[in-house]
Amino acid sequence: MLDRFNNFAAAVSRVSASVCDAALTIIYPATCRVCGGVIESWRDGAACAKCWQEIEQKRAAADLCARCGGPLPPLPADIKFDGRQCGQCDDFAFRFARACGPYEGALRESVLNLKHRPHIPRRLSEMLRRTFAALPDNDRIEAIIPVPLHPERLAERGFNQSEIIARALASTTGLRVDTAAIIRVKKTEKHGAGMGAPERARSLAKAFTVRAPRLIEDRQLLIVDDVMTTASTAQELAGTLIEGGARSVSVITLTRTVNRRVDLD
Ligand SMILES: [Zn+2]
Ligand SMILES: [Zn+2]
Repeated sequence: MLDRFNNFAAAVSRVSASVCDAALTIIYPATCRVCGGVIESWRDGAACAKCWQEIEQKRAAADLCARCGGPLPPLPADIKFDGRQCGQCDDFAFRFARACGPYEGALRESVLNLKHRPHIPRRLSEMLRRTFAALPDNDRIEAIIPVPLHPERLAERGFNQSEIIARALASTTGLRVDTAAIIRVKKTEKHGAGMGAPERARSLAKAFTVRAPRLIEDRQLLIVDDVMTTASTAQELAGTLIEGGARSVSVITLTRTVNRRVDLD
């Protein structure tokens, strides 16, 4: 009897998933924003399965800094070893940073989509979960801190995209999302093309302030954001959290720009 019920429940769930796919295809972009192909499942968000596969391959092949996840100077093709560091992140306030993958293809389209649609597709949330699983010392992390938006920017957009990412990661890890401990007090200019790391760092100085120190004191925290470019935002936020008493801070972003190109904030 129970088996029959389980079979029935599985069939209902299969049917509702396909009905859901069909219904969401109507309101969802059925055309892949990367290659123009067909998106067969709403779980793939803005890109088709083939484009997600391409990102998975790039992610697997990337040789990145073991600490900050940034690009490494190239080595001769026959030399490869684990744990290599870029040498530029020794003074960063955060311990480790990882991204789901490079800022291109399916991931770039997902980030752009997230600017106006507060939703993380299943494909991306699964990638986030794996990125977290590969983050060193992830078992010590106690809470997720989405990069706060300035209240005026939040009012314009209606939601904080970093919080949407944080909640997707929380749903697969069980971690708490903390949006109360730290706030953004400085409305920084939108980062335009050509803004280098020193200018970004200057524009972000004192952008955040700890509002509830007891929520971060002695805690091991994870900052979550959509894109890491020069690491200035993560650096400023991590520094403020450490000054406020956090024991350690690591970072996960959806994407990481490799050539420092900036076309969004
Ligand atoms: Zn595609
Ligand atoms: Zn590094």
